[in-house]
Amino acid sequence: MQCDVLVLGAGPAGSALAQRLAQDGFGVLLADKKAFPRDKPCGEFLSPECAPYLDALGLQAPLRDLGPRLVRGMHLHGYGARALGRFRAVGAHAATAGSGFGVRRSRFDAALVDAASRAGATFLPRHELQDLLRDANGRVHGAVLRTEGGAVVECRARWVVGADGVHSRTARRLGVQRQTPWLDQFALVAHFDGVAARPCAEVHLFPGGFFAATTVDADLFSVNLVVPRTTLRDRAAPDWDGFVADHLDRAPAFGERLRPARRTTPWRGIGPLAHTTTRQTFAGAALVGDACGYVDPLTGEGIYFALFGARALGDALATALHHPDREAAALAGYVAARHREVTPRLRASALLQRALRHPWLVRPFLHAADRWPLLADLVVTLTGDAIHPRDLLRPSFWRSFHAATPEPVA
Ligand SMILES: Cc1cc2nc3c(=O)[nH]c(=O)nc-3n(C[C@H](O)[C@H](O)[C@H](O)COP(=O)(O)OP(=O)(O)OC[C@H]3O[C@@H](n4cnc5c(N)ncnc54)[C@H](O)[C@@H]3O)c2cc1C
Repeated sequence: MQCDVLVLGAGPAGSALAQRLAQDGFGVLLADKKAFPRDKPCGEFLSPECAPYLDALGLQAPLRDLGPRLVRGMHLHGYGARALGRFRAVGAHAATAGSGFGVRRSRFDAALVDAASRAGATFLPRHELQDLLRDANGRVHGAVLRTEGGAVVECRARWVVGADGVHSRTARRLGVQRQTPWLDQFALVAHFDGVAARPCAEVHLFPGGFFAATTVDADLFSVNLVVPRTTLRDRAAPDWDGFVADHLDRAPAFGERLRPARRTTPWRGIGPLAHTTTRQTFAGAALVGDACGYVDPLTGEGIYFALFGARALGDALATALHHPDREAAALAGYVAARHREVTPRLRASALLQRALRHPWLVRPFLHAADRWPLLADLVVTLTGDAIHPRDLLRPSFWRSFHAATPEPVA
């Protein structure tokens, strides 16, 4: 097989990139080890800033057809305190910045793959990356894929993109994946029904972890439990319901929410989660989305980073394909764009992670946020990605933030 760009992994990053490049007329192969629709352990919350990216790909209508829930903010609970933060309609895309979405990943990701196929990309389900192909100079010029039936397929490409998620084999083959030991977490996810729907997502903190939940689609309640992987030690054959029940005792408000609920899907686990990469671009190859590094589920920004990265890398590869002499500058542009947009948010999220481990910090913060909605809305709007941490330094931002009072939510 031969193509201009081989995209490995058809999550939001890979599909959005494949669609964008196919729309530009390039020959794109989009390979995934799974057949779609497939499940992906996720909180299934799309932050408000995803909307303009989906719009630019012509995906707002398909998303509407999936019947997502509007998510207007976040209930924050922890150590006996609580606060409600609402997304304020500010920033460059103020028209859509006031709400995010709750949507099942199986349906959302399948819609993105469909859109990429309609744009002209060839989707290869059940094709798993085995290894990268390199020429005599070490430049990546293709990949070896293995089909579910065991056939081995060689695919030559001018560019190979690793969009294969948090355990990216592409990043490993390129030798740039590293562990982040202090964030070594493990997540369990499942759907429930019978929980009263709320217009906001919710996070319930307890010592050493948190529950996050969103209502998705019609009335499904998507629940995540995130805990350190060390919690799993000494558990030979975990009884997951018992494991979750133990943690619900530490988050009583959430235990109360789940009391009338019925679990409709098995618990699915994912971990270890903490990876990062030392480099994201190479001769003939690049990484995008979670393949670049793990995004903590706490702030619900991973899908936004995937869509942002897909757009920035799409711009860079379009330039590199049209003008090979400009490829180094184009890829440097991608790295710089990621650095500007994603790195400060990852740092803020890591800081938050560390702070949230301390009840003596969380409790007064939540009390203050409950008392001053502006503070709660600011934190939640920041994690909704509509504003950037550096906006906080601009007086004009504070004026518009103050003016953008959201409608009350229950
Ligand atoms: C518990 C949890 C909750 C989360 N909650 C949220 C949330 O609420 N909101 C949010 O925005 N983000 C959330 N995230 C993060 C979000 O899920 C990711 O950031 C997002 O899915 C990244 O998209 P991606 O396209 O880079 O990777 P993925 O969505 O992981 O897609 C990678 C694709 O690559 C395929 N693949 C893997 N290996 C290979 C291979 N060797 N060959 C071929 N294909 C391969 C996989 O099958 C998969 O389809 C959460 C993450 C976790 C772990």
